[in-house]
Amino acid sequence: MTDNRIYNFNAGPAALPLSVLEEIRDAFLDFKGSGMSITEVSHRSKWFDEVINDAVERLKRILNLDDRFTVLFLQGGASMQFCMIPMNFLAAGGHADYVNTGTWSTKAIKEARIQGKKVDVVASSEDKNFSYIPENITFSEGAVYTHITSNNTIKGTQWAAFPDTGGTPLIADMSSDILSRPFDADKFGLFYAGAQKNMGPAGVCVAVIRDDFLSMVPEGIPTMLKYSTFAAKNSMFNTPPCFAVYTVQLVLKWLEEDIGGLEKMAARNRRKAEMLYGLIDASDFYRGTAARNSRSMMNVTFRLPTEDLEKAFVQDALDNGLGGLKGHRSVGGCRASIYNPTPMAAVEALCDFMKTFESKKG
Ligand SMILES: *Cc1c(COP(=O)(O)O)cnc(C)c1O
Repeated sequence: MTDNRIYNFNAGPAALPLSVLEEIRDAFLDFKGSGMSITEVSHRSKWFDEVINDAVERLKRILNLDDRFTVLFLQGGASMQFCMIPMNFLAAGGHADYVNTGTWSTKAIKEARIQGKKVDVVASSEDKNFSYIPENITFSEGAVYTHITSNNTIKGTQWAAFPDTGGTPLIADMSSDILSRPFDADKFGLFYAGAQKNMGPAGVCVAVIRDDFLSMVPEGIPTMLKYSTFAAKNSMFNTPPCFAVYTVQLVLKWLEEDIGGLEKMAARNRRKAEMLYGLIDASDFYRGTAARNSRSMMNVTFRLPTEDLEKAFVQDALDNGLGGLKGHRSVGGCRASIYNPTPMAAVEALCDFMKTFESKKG
């Protein structure tokens, strides 16, 4: 049944742990003796209550969050957060700093400006095609928040350490690296992630909000776009994406019980990334596109000598059971997304394939 599964390097939706998929399959027709599928039970039932509460508690445990933080399950993807953040936190006329490190940051800035909010782009790596993370940034005085994209899925860069904003709370789009390494949540007013990269299927976005940010939410904005609406109802103001939340719960359980938490997850991720970058650095055939000190441990972007070779590489890889290696359509090249669920064996298989391909075509 699993014989024809490939090694999946898709950027998102992306690979999930096989054990999670098997658990979903096994429980699919009769969830916990309910006689119903998880896609059929009421979100107001004890079955779903257990699912969502367990997911919240696990996320708080894994990320070491104290009681100031509320975990929310929202819809509209990470992209909806681009609009909700300025709407909720800049209502009183304040200003915010944004660091522009690529496509997703650019979109976040655009959505704030559409609403007429005052946004200062305090640093950008656009001058070098977003191939690095800016350093020595001067932040504005009195900004309500500083928005960053912790991992740039398309360009293959990642903040190795979060910037010192001089006390301004950070807000981070962590869509493609949440739960990949430990971090100090204290610096954050809010962080969020579409689930479909590191955490589950598409259809749910996790947002973690601190109480001082929750108390900034104004009255006069639409109910469905207010963080407070969802915080007051344990993310069940309206029907939540039950199946997506359930899958996230299982991925969190896997991370906690099978992997053993964030330190171990990070060590595993480091080993995978080092193996792949090591091969790229040792080769004149493959060329990494991100500056070395800004490289992503999640999305490894690289080029081959010609676009024809890149095309052949992606196709040949797929014929060998390695999928999803085409770079984002906006940048071309190749990209291997090696999120939490990607096993070491997948990276080993990819490295073997890359060596063989180079020896044939290099
Ligand atoms: C994929 C991605 C998004 C977009 O997520 P949606 O859930 O599709 O809206 C935003 N930011 C980052 C960093 C991403 O990787």
